[in-house]
Amino acid sequence: MMKRLLAVVFVLGMMLAYPLSSSASDVLLISTSEQKKVQNHISTVGFKILNANELPNRTVFIYDSSKTINAYSAFFGRNIVLYRGMYIMLDDEDMLAAVLCHEISHSMDSYEGPFRGTFGFLNYTYAPKKYEYKADKRAVDFMVKAGYHPVAAIVMMNKVMGQNRYDWNSSHPLTSRRMMSVYEYIYKKYPEYLVDNKYKTNIYYQNFLLTSKENRAKFQKKIEKNSRGNVDYL
Ligand SMILES: [Zn+2]
Repeated sequence: MMKRLLAVVFVLGMMLAYPLSSSASDVLLISTSEQKKVQNHISTVGFKILNANELPNRTVFIYDSSKTINAYSAFFGRNIVLYRGMYIMLDDEDMLAAVLCHEISHSMDSYEGPFRGTFGFLNYTYAPKKYEYKADKRAVDFMVKAGYHPVAAIVMMNKVMGQNRYDWNSSHPLTSRRMMSVYEYIYKKYPEYLVDNKYKTNIYYQNFLLTSKENRAKFQKKIEKNSRGNVDYL
């Protein structure tokens, strides 16, 4: 009896010391050198983008080794945090650049307005979607300037971001709308990347082409009306 009780106490003790499922144990599995490697990768790409675009405001890049599939830009701390869950979804450096460029755009916005941008967050609170579209488009400019392929932004979104049912109940526009707006922006401003498109056979890009077929046809019609010729960009 005593032995059995001791065994139960031992097992309970083990469970408390080593929780079976928690993000804490997940973090411990990654070695320091691996974390350092990823942190350096993110910082290097981030600073490459800042310098290539001659951005006048400071920001830093922090790697958080938890599972969350996300990244964010802290309005007051001016640091950009990228989670491991997001990092492992990114297949190449262009896709990483797409995430960082979007957050860098938010970070630069945080400097705008009186009192060193202290009240800038109010704009974000009242019109968050406007700033999401802005960040997506400005990310394309940042990417091109830093030597990255802007179509990676569409590939990244289509692979990583879910699709809400409606637009109105979210701070972010529907992913399909965001991808379409990035596509249109690239089409108008940097069409060469759609002609010479290294993502042409990428499965996530192919899926975007499939799911945006109707919207792209509408867009193409609008463009043709404004007589830019019948060019079949893919
Ligand atoms: Zn955003």
